[in-house]
Amino acid sequence: MRINLSKRFTMDSPLKMDNTPVYQVDLDEGILGKGNKNGTILVSDKITDPEERESIIKHERIHVDQVKRGDLDYDDENVYWKGKTYPRSEMNEGSPDLPWEKEAYSKTDPFEKY
Ligand SMILES: [Zn+2]
Repeated sequence: MRINLSKRFTMDSPLKMDNTPVYQVDLDEGILGKGNKNGTILVSDKITDPEERESIIKHERIHVDQVKRGDLDYDDENVYWKGKTYPRSEMNEGSPDLPWEKEAYSKTDPFEKY
């Protein structure tokens, strides 16, 4: 039997949804999901309910979208939304009152806070 070595890369490829790679990883306590600037989404490996996981992915996908269209950016210190700077030190991260969260929550089922 011939083994095609390039095939081995497909075995470990992440779950693809709308071309957004989703990785199940060990996230910090209290963090359920993360949308990365590089377009990938991280979901906590502590989530066992597939519906909850799906809901988190939907929410984070909106943040990825916000980054892609240029409305959202962030670094370790700040979050930037439509040209405005929001220092992380003064914000309640994940709060539905934040404009980027407001959009994400309005477009998804309010399962829980992410
Ligand atoms: Zn969010």
